[in-house]
Amino acid sequence: MTNPLVTRDRIEQEVREALGTTLRIETPATIDLDSSIVNDLHATSIDFLDINFRLETVFGIQMNTQGFLDLVEEELGDGKAIDRDGKVTAAAAEIMKLHLGGSDGIESGMYSDETAAVVTPRMVCDAVEKLLGTLPAACTACGATEWKSEDGAKVTCGACGKAAEYTPGDDLTKRWIQDIEREKQLFASA
Ligand SMILES: [Zn+2]
Repeated sequence: MTNPLVTRDRIEQEVREALGTTLRIETPATIDLDSSIVNDLHATSIDFLDINFRLETVFGIQMNTQGFLDLVEEELGDGKAIDRDGKVTAAAAEIMKLHLGGSDGIESGMYSDETAAVVTPRMVCDAVEKLLGTLPAACTACGATEWKSEDGAKVTCGACGKAAEYTPGDDLTKRWIQDIEREKQLFASA
């Protein structure tokens, strides 16, 4: 589902802005959406927190606070995603590829901290779009169904003015992990 009040163009623009400001890139419009945020744009994990915070502020969403593999372990069991040597298990590599939309660069046996290098600006846009897509049908405060957006980024209730409540990123990802595991049984024999 997509949010009818926030366009993909706007999401891409804000992701570029957040990357540009955090990473001091003077011409954010030129950022390649398929570049590696870690390898090509040289972001650190602290930078990711900053980028996420900027996007949360602009859109009124809650980005993921935990890494994907940590969420997999929380849902499916300790040691299921990362083995004792800190390497990604075969099942975890599979579920991560599905999560990222068939990404190259994820292999079973790679170190879990190397997986951050596959994240691209386009994936950040996709994540923001998914979160915005959890806009409830009706306002959770007054029940009205009159969403509006003054700035094309933040959505508020047209009746009571309350900000839209989106599903938090970690919750959305956990739900996805459970759904996909029910369907694919990637970890059933792991
Ligand atoms: Zn309302």
